Amino acid sequence: MADLTPLPNFIGGRWRPASATGHVDVHNPAHGTVIARTPLSTGADVDAAVGAAAAAFPAWSETPPVARTQVLFKFKALLETHFEELARLVTTEHGKTLDESRGSVRRGIECVEVACGAPSLLMGYGLENVGRGIDCQVMRQPLGVCAAIAPFNFPAMVPLWFLPFAIACGNTFVLKPSEQVPLSQKRLFELLAECDLPPGVANLVNGGREVVEAMCDHPGIRAVSFVGSTPVARAVHQRATHAGKRVQALGGAKNFVVVMPDADLDRAMPVITESFFGCAGERCLAGTVLLPVGGVHRDALDRLVAAAESLRIGDGLEPGVTMGPVISGAHRARVVRYVDRGVADGARLVLDGRTARVADRPEGFFIGPSVFDGVGPDMAIGTDEIFGPVASVSAVADLDHAFRIMDAHPNANATSIFTSSGRTAREFSHRATASMVGVNIGVAAPMAYFPFGGARDSFFGDLKVHGRDAFEFYTDKKVTISRW
Ligand code: NAD
Repeated sequence: MADLTPLPNFIGGRWRPASATGHVDVHNPAHGTVIARTPLSTGADVDAAVGAAAAAFPAWSETPPVARTQVLFKFKALLETHFEELARLVTTEHGKTLDESRGSVRRGIECVEVACGAPSLLMGYGLENVGRGIDCQVMRQPLGVCAAIAPFNFPAMVPLWFLPFAIACGNTFVLKPSEQVPLSQKRLFELLAECDLPPGVANLVNGGREVVEAMCDHPGIRAVSFVGSTPVARAVHQRATHAGKRVQALGGAKNFVVVMPDADLDRAMPVITESFFGCAGERCLAGTVLLPVGGVHRDALDRLVAAAESLRIGDGLEPGVTMGPVISGAHRARVVRYVDRGVADGARLVLDGRTARVADRPEGFFIGPSVFDGVGPDMAIGTDEIFGPVASVSAVADLDHAFRIMDAHPNANATSIFTSSGRTAREFSHRATASMVGVNIGVAAPMAYFPFGGARDSFFGDLKVHGRDAFEFYTDKKVTISRW
């Protein structure tokens, strides 16, 4: 029997009940059962967390970077020890397969590893004799209290895009997990609490919109990082910048995948299938619209359908399962509505996943993969982010035709091309408006030492996530000009 006491917040080094009166049920999406409750914390809880973080900031920011990163080395070791447990927790609360969860936890750990390089990556620069006997030096200094707001689709990974970098730079930190998947983030904080982190340096406040809005408005927070859908990313960016904060807000996506006639389909199609249906399509880097160029259309479509048909849907914890459920019953209903709409709009439904069920998990939020052909750029399935296992195929005449479709779309997160021509690949990479480009790669996810984030309506802000940008985002540059 699951403990349904609303989850506590972690504030000032202690687990404390939220002041919330409402809660959101957390489900195991494969079973459809309630496994926990997320309290809808209030502005008072945010205030308490910011107060604890502000109180911890003076001592933490004065702690030498090399000592700050010792905490992260311990954290990394604990994450390795609890790797399998964390991956299972991600699958239990999110639904993705265990292998997919392992991959995401690995990506999170990679961020901790990169943040451990803070003593080098925080270095400033200087110049002697900018004038005769005058020297100039630039030092990076932490900002203060920083906040991050996470989406549901990568429970353990997305918080680690921010937390290790923020605290390695000497900031203190407040995290709001997605109310749909709070459990692995709670576990991350339990592990962090074992790493000699001073109280108040990292805090966790569970909740929903009220917490986000309180974070955007709170005068004690200097910077806000957000990951989620485009409308909320835009709103958070506007509200928090209006309140004078530094903001990076990563939004939604509609990622186009181009297949050239010279692509090696034997190698490309398994990768493309994984891009479209991996994590049941709940990935901001998922391929969603396939643009086969010229005569490759028929072959690519047939192979995509055959590969999709061979996916094994089920509980992500079970061996052999290759696609788990989507996050909730409401989300499954939304995906089904999109498939209905694609049919009504005149696209050809080649594979229909709407009625797929898993026999021994009748209450799970399962939906099978769907594939549409003949998708026009004006159809909702070709333009909206569905965030489910629905592939749209739209044949194009040439690369220019593909670019007309891609450039007309407001999102520009990731895009991929499959080709055996270096010249075509170079042209694609050069012309793409999306900021993350894959060449014979289906999910163009930059590793933690490179910047992560899209363009246009997929990203609001200037500095991207992790890599060197994280050290820029989480510090201010102070210039000292001296004459002695
Ligand atoms: P979401 O926008 O619904 O929620 C994200 C966060 O915002 C959650 O913590 C939620 O509690 C909060 N929130 C929701 N509605 C709000 C509102 N009206 N006002 C203030 N806060 C609100 O997104 P989601 O469904 O959790 O995640 C899926 C979305 O995230 C997809 O659009 C996906 O593309 C996007 N995403 C983007 C990236 C990226 O790198 N660009 C990465 C992962 C996910």
